[in-house]
Amino acid sequence: MPSIDVHVKTSIERTGKDYKDVHEWIDKDEAKKVERHDITRIHENAKEVELKWGEDGVREFIQHIHDDIKKRTADTLAYFGVK
Ligand SMILES: [Zn+2]
Repeated sequence: MPSIDVHVKTSIERTGKDYKDVHEWIDKDEAKKVERHDITRIHENAKEVELKWGEDGVREFIQHIHDDIKKRTADTLAYFGVK
């Protein structure tokens, strides 16, 4: 999955702001990292993100999950030699 620095760079390119706190909240806590990336919990997690960082934070949270899944899918396909 992309590093926090890559997520920050993507946010800056897209919005002009880094949203580093949001990306760190998703990725840094090893005990909570899996549940914060769980797409079946995205609605529940988005509520917590909205309380902390508002609607803009929710958008960046969902974009982060999207970018991680996209990268993981690409890596998996490459591993199996699918182009
Ligand atoms: Zn992530």
